This record gives sequence, structure tokens and C-alpha cells, in this order.
Amino acid sequence: MENLQTHTNQYLLLLLLLFLSSIQFISPAFNPPDNHLITCGSDSITNIDGRDFSPDSNTNSVLLSAPSKISITDPNPSPDSSPLYHTARIFTGNSSYEFNIKSNGTHLVRLHFFPFPSQRFNLSAAVFGVSALGFSLLKDFKVPNKTQVIREYIIKVDSGKIVISFAPSGNSPPSSSFAFVNAIEVFSAPTDLIADDAQFVIPSGMENFNGLINQVLETVHRINVGGFIIVPLNDTLWRTWIPDDEFLFSRSAAKRVIFGGRIKYQMGGASREIAPDNVYSTAQEMNIGNLTVIPNFNITWIFPVSTGFRHLVRLHFCDIVSRALNELFFDIYINGGLVYKDFDLSSRTILSLASPYYTDLITDADDSGVIRVSIGPSDLSSTSRRNAILNGVEIMKMNGELGPISETKSKKNIGVVIGTVVGGFGFVCVLVVVILLVLRKRKGMKPKPKSDPKSNNTGGWSPMGGYGGSSYSALTERTNASPGANLNLGLRISFSDVQSATNNFSENLLIGSGGFGNVYKGVLKDGTKVAVKRGMPGSRQGLSEFLTEITVLSKIRHRHLVSLIGYCEEQSEMILVYEFMENGSLRSHLYGSNLPCLSWKQRLEICIGSARGLHYLHTGSSQPIIHRDVKPANILLDEKLMAKVADFGLSRAVACLDQSHVSTNVKGSFGYLDPEYFRRQHLTDKSDVYSFGVVLLEVLCARPAIDISLPREQVNLAEWAMWYQKKGMLGEIIDPKLMGNINLTSLRKFGETVEKCLAEYGVDRPAMGDVLWNLEYALQLQETEIHREPYEDSTTSASDSSLPIVTRAPLGSTRIESDSPAVKSDGSSDTTPSGVFSQLITSEGR
Ligand code: ADP
Repeated sequence: MENLQTHTNQYLLLLLLLFLSSIQFISPAFNPPDNHLITCGSDSITNIDGRDFSPDSNTNSVLLSAPSKISITDPNPSPDSSPLYHTARIFTGNSSYEFNIKSNGTHLVRLHFFPFPSQRFNLSAAVFGVSALGFSLLKDFKVPNKTQVIREYIIKVDSGKIVISFAPSGNSPPSSSFAFVNAIEVFSAPTDLIADDAQFVIPSGMENFNGLINQVLETVHRINVGGFIIVPLNDTLWRTWIPDDEFLFSRSAAKRVIFGGRIKYQMGGASREIAPDNVYSTAQEMNIGNLTVIPNFNITWIFPVSTGFRHLVRLHFCDIVSRALNELFFDIYINGGLVYKDFDLSSRTILSLASPYYTDLITDADDSGVIRVSIGPSDLSSTSRRNAILNGVEIMKMNGELGPISETKSKKNIGVVIGTVVGGFGFVCVLVVVILLVLRKRKGMKPKPKSDPKSNNTGGWSPMGGYGGSSYSALTERTNASPGANLNLGLRISFSDVQSATNNFSENLLIGSGGFGNVYKGVLKDGTKVAVKRGMPGSRQGLSEFLTEITVLSKIRHRHLVSLIGYCEEQSEMILVYEFMENGSLRSHLYGSNLPCLSWKQRLEICIGSARGLHYLHTGSSQPIIHRDVKPANILLDEKLMAKVADFGLSRAVACLDQSHVSTNVKGSFGYLDPEYFRRQHLTDKSDVYSFGVVLLEVLCARPAIDISLPREQVNLAEWAMWYQKKGMLGEIIDPKLMGNINLTSLRKFGETVEKCLAEYGVDRPAMGDVLWNLEYALQLQETEIHREPYEDSTTSASDSSLPIVTRAPLGSTRIESDSPAVKSDGSSDTTPSGVFSQLITSEGR
């Protein structure tokens, strides 16, 4: 008997356990304590997605007070549209609905509008205001013709009722002096939907924010990142989530991930009501493709918002990409500022993969009209696992706080008034997008390329356009931000503009062809001459170079770095648009062309300009950048022969030069490669210094770094020339056209500089700044005939056996090249290469 009892208990226990475990998997649908769903102007119950919408004239909990009770019905309703939009209630004067609230707390309020054609009322002409609990939600509101608009608010109720009022706008003409609504939802939100605290984004990071729960929030964007549209039927709170494609800044940077496994909702993380499985089972991750360099770019989404308002940005994450815990670390940026560094989902989700997590961030009002969300890899991830993900985004406008009117509140209300006029377009956009997406899907239309929301009012192009024409200092200030965050809309150029600039990529305008693709000369609408580099159409090869180029050049500007004027990534194109460099590459002036010979002074000025550009790359911004492909083909010359370093596709940012080297696959050009980098695969700024040493030799000898047509000992320029340099005979192998025109002391300084650049070990090579100074000195020695003993102008000790043997150098008398075109040019020392002297304070140097 006792035995039987024990068995029964065990059986019951097992059942209970089974029951408990099953509710983990099939959590019950959310059942809101308050659930008022009304279809306005209708006289029958309408069931939508399993929810009953009652007629507004026939329900217990709703009191309609209106001067007249007018309802209208769409005479020709579209069979595809929801029956909620087939009828409407018209208010010719101030009117209101009162909903009894059984359970005080946060509620969702959704207002549905659709101006269907009606003979009696032109619904799209109506101009009106809507308020709830005395708080203005919509002011001077109009609904565009044939556009379904849902406005959603999250409001805390503590008075046992919520009154929603409609009022025709006072100054509208009588024919449009009415308000209307098609349907209203008022229902309790799950208690955890809006927490009271969030993180407030400040320039230096974040600080705590309390009081979110008292804010009237208005949904502006609700995005299922990497996924498809989620319709109310498939959402736990009957929300609509739309795909992120339209907001993705650079589509090629992101790759969709779809997860087939189970999403594990956990205590402490997100609940199914925060966002449904479908949001967490898709994401965008970094599109690493078959990159051979360590991926170092961000993915950025740009969301239009109302200016002048704080916004709540809710980011949804779920690690559906990792194979193991603690594999994924990434950085998160809002409007270019770092908010989370080394964000680690494993530690935030009680050690489980595929477990949802969300974070609430508040951004202060700004005038940009957009919120940028970026994610990018963290250095904590192993090289082969660098990635970053995002699963969902919600953006809600903070309309202000409910409660007694205080000074701050009234200020905020002014904001609401302005904001509802200028802003509030968000959810309309959302719905228009939803409708468009559905239509596209039906008609199989190709999505129209996204137009730049800002480009409408930007007529011409300027290299600084990306920052609204801001100054150089503004640009450099931003270098702390993430590279991806600095990819900005202002640099985007439409494909059609590129086509018209290049006469549709006319063969006549082809000026060259490089590793990335063809290069065309072009002229933009505003007359700016440009060089247009077009990646092989249809090929994703060079994607990483493309992204790196944009990332690096968006971040930095310098007189001696070629400016990126814009780029285009529409229709699978990868196009880079640069300032046009009239005189082409340094290479073409040194050999292989019939261009006039450059004088020694011109050559020195070009070397100095390039050294300046590289010095800036290494030290000018918070994150040093190593070019990795320094060679004469990548040094371009403008109309005044001023040198600018180009081609940043291979460049790499390093955290800090002091402790720095980057382990990497060897990249760069044969003949210029730092032997240490080649052997140990350690990339440092000194690798650029080595390559630059080779460039200096090419400039001096006017021959390529590698020339296999020459006798064996001469094939490698660096080896061959160093042999001569070490014997003090460098003057014997210089460009014959320079013979007799180089000041001996200048050559000696130059030779020593090259030798140091080409030192076997990076530690023995000078920094770019020292190279620059030595070249400036060599130029000064060329320009002024200074008679010195060898040791006086040399940094090498006088006893050094490698000192040049002056008598052997077959050089003629010193000549000051006063007829150089660079000197003859307009004379503004700031813009001519002669300006390089600005840093040379005394001839004795530092
Ligand atoms: P590579 O990939 O070999 O470095 P590029 O694609 O950079 O070559 O350039 C190919 C050709 O286009 C070169 O001859 C170069 O001089 C020319 N070019 C590149 N950029 C510009 C520019 N901004 N202005 C004028 N010519 C340019």
C-alpha cells in the first residue's frame, strides 16, 4: 500500500517536472490584463489574427464622447487590406474615448489611420491633434493619401483609466476641420517591457539614466536585423518588425545569418515579449568573405529620427554565430562614439549561446536627423574569429514625462509640438516601407537603391562634405571614433552621378588600370576633376581594400594624402572617387615614360611631401596607420607636382605604435618589402620606412625596385645601391640625368638617410619624422651651398668608415635650381612644395 503511494507520488512529481519543463519551451502567449481593441466606425466585431476588435459604439469599457457620431465605410475596400481599415470614425469637434484600466502600469497604445477615399470626407485633408492622459501625442497631424499609418506609444497609466482625445486643428479650413481614426489598441504591456533604468550615451561613454518608465515613448523604428518582415500575427505583442536592408549603410559590409536552432530565453536576458524568436534567430554579421587581411571594418545602420529629441535605442543580440562560448567580442558605437568595448554576450547571458540579450541606450537630441548604430570587431577575439553581430533594433522617441507640469516638462512639450510637426515620420516611413516591400515581393521588383537622406539638399561635392563642410580639426577630432562610424553618408555618390562624371565610363577617359580595376578621369557636376576607380563590376574581389580605403580616408585628411571625394556601392558596384592628380604617379615621372625629367630639387620635394603624408599616417591620429604598400606608383603628383600618398587599400590601423606590431599575412609589393616583416610577419610602422627607403633609391636612380632584365647583382635595387652606398660610391649609380646637378652634401645626406631606412631590423630604422627631417635637410643642403667638413652635416660619426668618399663622387658643381616649376608656382608657400621648409627651424636640426 505504502509502495503504491510512493509510486503515485513519483508519478505526479514526474508529471509536474514534465509540465514545468514544457512551459520553458512553449511559453504561454502573453495575455494582457487590460486589452481594449476597438474598430472605429464599425458595427460588428472584427477578428484580426485571433484578436477581437469590438465596434467603438458598442463596448462596455469605452465611453465615446463626441459632438456628433459620424462613421464612414470604404465603398471599395481592397480585399488585401485589413478590415480595420475599411471603416473610420469622424470627429467634427473635440471628442474622446475613455478606457478603463484594471491594472495600472505600462500600456501600449496603437492608433491606426488609413485615409480611404470617401465622398463625404476627404480623410487625407484632415488636420488634427491627438492626446492621451492630457499629453499631446500628435499635433497638426495629417495622413498621406492611401497610406496606412500606425502610431504606437508606450505610456504608464496610474489613474485607472486612459482618455484618448481627438481635436480638429483650430486653423484648418472647415472642409478639413475634423479628425478621424480607424482603430485603437490599448493593452497592458508585460511588466518588464520598459525598465526604469537605461544607459545614457555621453561623449566619453555612458552613464546611468533613471526614469525611463515615466516617459511617453513613441516607436519610430522596429527592425528585424538580417531577417524578414515579422507581422503582428507572429509577434508576442502584435508588433510589426521590418527588415534592416534599407537602413544598412554599406550592404556589402554585412552578411545575413539565419539560425535554425532553438532560441534559449533565460532569466536575466530578454523575454519572448521583449522580442520574439524570429528576431533573435536572424542577424547581420561581418561579411568577411575570403578576406586575406584581418577584418577591421564596422557595420553601420543609419536611422532617420526627429531632430531635437532624445531617443531610446534598444539593441537586440543573440549569439547565433559562435561555435563556443567566449569566442565573440565586439565593439558597439552610437553616432560614432564607443558605447561598449569588447561586448561579450557569453558573459551576459548566463553562459549560453543562442540566448537573447538586449540593451537600452539613450541618445541625447542632436541636429543630425539620424542615429547611427555601428558594430565592429574587438581585438579580444582571436584573429580567425573576428566578428560582430546585431539581431534587432528598436528606436523610440522620448516625448517627455507624464506628471505634474514642471518647467522642464513644459520645455519638453514645446519640443513635442515642434517634433510632431517635423518628426513623427518614422513609423509612417516604416509602414510605407512595409507596403513597398510587400508590393515588391508581389511584383518581383528589384529594390530601388536607397537614396541618401541627406543628399537631397547637398548640391555639390566637397572632400569635406561628409562632415558638413567642417574644418580639418573637426575631422581630426573624430579620429577617436570607430573607423566604420566615420563612413558617412556625405561621401556617398550615386551611380548615376558617377556615370555622368565619366561619360558612362568612356574608354576615352580611361587613365589607367590597377589591382582594383580601371581608373577613369571624370568631372563632377560642380566642375571638380576626379579620378574614378571602378572595382571589376560584379566581382567582390577587392571588397576589403574598398572598405579599408573608405574607412581610412574617411577618418583622415592631410595635404599629402590623396583625398577621397566619394564612393558608390550601389548595384553591386564598388567605386572610389578621388581628387584628380594632374601629374599622375611618381613612377611615371621616374621611368617608363617620356615625361620631362624631374630636377633633384623637385625630386627631393616630392620625397619630402610623401614623407610628410606617411609621418601623418603613423602619428597624426589616435590610431596609427601603416600604409603597407609604399611605392612610387602609389605616390601621386598634383598640378604643382606636390606629392600625395595614395592607395590605402592594404593599410592597417594598429592600436599604438609603442607596443606595436601586427601579426599578419605578408602583403605589399615585391621589391619594397621589409625583410623583417617578410621573415617574422610582424608589421610595424618601420615596414613603411623600409619601403620608403626603396622609393628614395628609385627617385635617385630612376629605375624600378626590381628589374630582372639587368645583370644579376643589379636586379634588386636596394641590395645593389646599398653596396655602393656603403663604399661611399652612391654617386656612381644615380640617374644619369642628374649627373652634375646634385650638391654633394645633399647627396651624402640623402644616401645616409636611405641607408638607415633600409636597416635590416626595424628598431635600427629611423621613424618617419626623422626621415622627413633628414630629407628637408638634404633639400636645404642642395639649395644653399654650405661648405662643411663631412662630419658636420652628418649624423654619422666622422670616424665612420662608411662616410662618403667625396672625391670619388662624379658630381659636378652645385647648382641652385631656381628655374624649378615648383618654385615658379604661385608662391604661396603653404600650398607649394616649398612649404616643406616650415618645419625646418635651424640648419643644425633638432
Ligand atoms: P595600382 O592598383 O597598380 O596601385 P591604381 O589602381 O591605384 O594602380 O591606379 C592605376 C592608374 O590610375 C595609375 O596609373 C595612377 O597613376 C592612376 N591614378 C590613380 N589614382 C589617381 C588619381 N587620384 N588621379 C590621377 N590618376 C590616378
